[in-house]
Amino acid sequence: MTTVTTAWLAELQDLLGADGVLTDPDVTASYARDQAMLAESGTPAAVVFPRSTAEVVAVMQTASRHGVPVVPRGAGSGLVGASNAVDGGITLVTTRMDAVLEVSPADRLAVVQPGVVNKQLRDAVAGAGLFYPPDPASYDWCTIGGNLAMNSGGLCCVKYGVTTDYVLGLEVVLADGRVLRTGRRTVKGVAGYDLARLFVGSEGTLGVITEATLALRPAPQASPVTLVASFPTSAQTGQVVESVVTSGLVPSMLEVMDRTCIRAVDDLIRADLDRDAQALLLARSDAGGEAARREIETLTRLCEEAGADFVHSTDDPAEGDLLLTARRMALPALERLGSVLLDDVAVPRSRVATFIDGCDAIAARSGLVIGVVGHAGDGNMHPTVVFDATDTDQRARAFEAFDAILELGLSLGGTITGEHGVGTLKADWLEREIGPVSMEVHRSIKHALDPDGLLNPGKVFRQVTP
Ligand SMILES: Cc1cc2nc3c(=O)[nH]c(=O)nc-3n(C[C@H](O)[C@H](O)[C@H](O)COP(=O)(O)OP(=O)(O)OC[C@H]3O[C@@H](n4cnc5c(N)ncnc54)[C@H](O)[C@@H]3O)c2cc1C
Repeated sequence: MTTVTTAWLAELQDLLGADGVLTDPDVTASYARDQAMLAESGTPAAVVFPRSTAEVVAVMQTASRHGVPVVPRGAGSGLVGASNAVDGGITLVTTRMDAVLEVSPADRLAVVQPGVVNKQLRDAVAGAGLFYPPDPASYDWCTIGGNLAMNSGGLCCVKYGVTTDYVLGLEVVLADGRVLRTGRRTVKGVAGYDLARLFVGSEGTLGVITEATLALRPAPQASPVTLVASFPTSAQTGQVVESVVTSGLVPSMLEVMDRTCIRAVDDLIRADLDRDAQALLLARSDAGGEAARREIETLTRLCEEAGADFVHSTDDPAEGDLLLTARRMALPALERLGSVLLDDVAVPRSRVATFIDGCDAIAARSGLVIGVVGHAGDGNMHPTVVFDATDTDQRARAFEAFDAILELGLSLGGTITGEHGVGTLKADWLEREIGPVSMEVHRSIKHALDPDGLLNPGKVFRQVTP
């Protein structure tokens, strides 16, 4: 165990107890970075585990008095380096603040601490016939605090929206240790600026979220109906996505995989997928009973009209889940082929096919494998560049391809990130999307809330002074 050598570390140990402050570099190393293996990260001087808002306040007061940077962290499942440590700083982990404080069926809301795991909340409300929809694929280990700070999405967002759509109120500890309570428990409420949403998606740069009041929905009908369709061209999948939008269908899931992903998944799980297809669509309706069957029948017709080679649907939950496994295995299947740079671009839904074809062209130009998988229903695509990280030339080409994908997304009227966030990985890209005036406003807000730049420095944007 490393000896505590600085005044602020000693103060933190007094506040949180020995087991609340880790300083052994062998242990703290595992809190240094998230899942974005190629994003830059530093070495924390201490990793702290507060148990309450009061302890977070105490940590922030100590940090601000001594000018020590603080990186909030949930489960570390992020994909853009947003919770990566800062050299000599404090990493504040929320996993001990993991209580579901209240589930209110009458007000259809839940109040939770930030370290509650997404699945834990979903399970806690299911007993009351309620549903917390935002469902990142990492739902069984990522935390609500991380979901809020990244405004996370997931598979069923095409129908139910993203994290911000469920935020009623927040408690946030500011950089100087003041506690801000913002938002409400009511369905409506417009008193003052919508500060709660300011913190949603702020990636830990404006405050530490210590409590959240979240809206819930009635649980959807059991027995969803699931559809799979394969197509000889990606343009046809794009046509289906457009037809779904124009016809007013709202499936609870509409996912796409390109040929690279289809083959990688088939190699991994032997799912008997159509290996010659250029693209595969997976859709689900949770409208219940006859309504779900009708929705999937319409979708079947749209797929056939677009020229699908194969369309199959099932209301057998086990078979439906098996079909979705193919989608969920896309990333692990690509990871077997080499190191991966996972991108996250959202384009207008009418440009999905153009985007997939553009990624194919980038793959051909770079001489690297790029698999495209994504939430076609909301235009949020995850092109994944596969390369050999030990090969300097391939590594350089992979980053070039990653940038070319961002460029392509912007050129199609899209955004550099649909759900994974900016972190450090895309910090140099933010201004290109939002422009200088928006950057100025961002910096002014950051300066107003965190004048010394102590909260998660280097994330979202590099230079923070207005
Ligand atoms: C296999 C896999 C699949 C994924 N699928 C999806 C997906 O479908 N959709 C999606 O959107 N994302 C997805 N992600 C990304 C990731 O899981 C989400 O961004 C998630 O919300 C991060 O939660 P976390 O608890 O791990 O946060 P961390 O990674 O620990 O932190 C993320 C950010 O939140 C900040 N933060 C954490 N807690 C707080 C707090 N209490 N107050 C203030 N700031 C805080 C951190 O500073 C950091 O900026 C996936 C990741 C993996 C590994």
